[in-house]
Amino acid sequence: MNAQPEASHFIDGKYIEDRTGDVIEVIYPATGDVIARLHAATPAIVDQALAAAKRAQKEWAGWTATARGRVLRRAADIMRDRNHDLSVLETYDTGKPYQETSVVDATSGADALEYFGGLAASITGEHIPLGDDFVYTRREPLGVCIGIGAWNYPTQIACWKAAPALACGNAMVFKPSETTPLCALKVAEILVEAGAPAGVCNVIQGYGAVGASLITDPRVDKVSLTGSVPTGRKVYAAAAEGVRHVTMELGGKSPLVIFDDADLENAVSGAILGNFYSSGQVCSNGTRVFVQKGIKDAFLKRLTERLEGVKMGDPQDPDTNFGPMVSENQRDIVEGFFTKGVEEGATLVTGGKRVDRDGFYLEPTVFADVTDDMTIARDEIFGPVMSVLDFDTEEEVLARANDTEFGLAAGVFTADLTRAHRMAAGFEAGTCYINTYNDAPVEAPFGGSKMSGVGRENSKAAIEHYSQIKGVYVRMGDLEAPF
Ligand code: NDP
Repeated sequence: MNAQPEASHFIDGKYIEDRTGDVIEVIYPATGDVIARLHAATPAIVDQALAAAKRAQKEWAGWTATARGRVLRRAADIMRDRNHDLSVLETYDTGKPYQETSVVDATSGADALEYFGGLAASITGEHIPLGDDFVYTRREPLGVCIGIGAWNYPTQIACWKAAPALACGNAMVFKPSETTPLCALKVAEILVEAGAPAGVCNVIQGYGAVGASLITDPRVDKVSLTGSVPTGRKVYAAAAEGVRHVTMELGGKSPLVIFDDADLENAVSGAILGNFYSSGQVCSNGTRVFVQKGIKDAFLKRLTERLEGVKMGDPQDPDTNFGPMVSENQRDIVEGFFTKGVEEGATLVTGGKRVDRDGFYLEPTVFADVTDDMTIARDEIFGPVMSVLDFDTEEEVLARANDTEFGLAAGVFTADLTRAHRMAAGFEAGTCYINTYNDAPVEAPFGGSKMSGVGRENSKAAIEHYSQIKGVYVRMGDLEAPF
């Protein structure tokens, strides 16, 4: 497969190359083969992208919001028309099975473009009467926004950031993870094809240092990062120097609580979706699965049976439902947690090994009898590793579920309606699920509390994070002064 794009960067409406930048090799995780070679942005490329965004933003913000929305909605249609090709590319970029990418990635990106395209014209200020005088507010764009992405959902992350940013009249410079640099280029290309002025959405490649140089540039007004907590700390601190707006979508170690009155089949489905989808490389995964003692044996038995349905193989084969880790490095990190789990005394129920084939495959792995202090129950693993912990009471499990620095997501499976809502109210997490797990529709806010993040993506809430309010005072009569 040659997935080589026309050039490494997409700036000011066209592909641009600068071969003096560090080489980025794109590796297909299912084989380990190099499928493209790109170059990291040099300072000249960074400057070109920011200059284009700065210039284009003024023009774009001057359009009517209806016209801006139309461009986004057109881009959504193009993405849906090309879903097959975009999904194949997403699978090459990430190693996620086509069975997933064909229904999740370009489609959820298109949903975001369509949703924010539809919302654009309703982004307005308000009128505040003060007797004869009044104040009106203008909801204005922030200016130039930087998006920095993680490697697990390259198309979706680019769209979740670009769509609300552009709907509000901002311009964007997006830097994908160097591990998955291909898909975001297509998003920028499609936006231009849909009628966005050149420079409104730019994509430049690079390692962390390129992201870091973008954040501190005086032309930048906002930084939206999807990444780990350690990177989030650095990016947040760098953005603070210039008092820039931020959205931080960071890591998690989310609890999934299964009471013994839960529908067993649904609870097992929730645990599978919340641990093994995308081979476990999902930030909101419910990796601490608290199972009430009365249902534990039945849960583990059914889970093990259902895991026999895993079909590992070529991710481009539509029958494959479980792909490799995104990279050799990520495979090695996750393998280290297999060892830790066993060393610290957890019971290995299934999996726990590297798969003997090309590429970076690991077995879906379940540990039982996990205790709160074990490393596998505390650290974000970002791989197919489920930790099952026992519990007795609601009060106990809620305290344990919240005993983490993270606060991205949390879920509960129970047949007791009032208990479900009590748990949702008690969870210290930005996104909660009742009798389901890991849904992320664009209509609903998504994001974390505690160390898992700041701000929200998707839904009307995202508008707050890509715009600012200006208050305008108007006096209708004469103005008195003391002298
Ligand atoms: P990283 O934090 O390693 O990297 C995220 C992005 O930040 C990459 O593009 C990276 O570039 C860049 N970066 C790294 N250092 C800096 C810096 N100093 N300044 C600016 N940019 C920098 O995350 P991963 O890519 O490993 O993704 C996995 C993490 O992302 C997990 O913790 C996961 O939970 C989180 N995540 C959160 C989501 C959410 O919505 N809350 C969704 C998806 C993932 P480079 O890769 O080139 O180093």
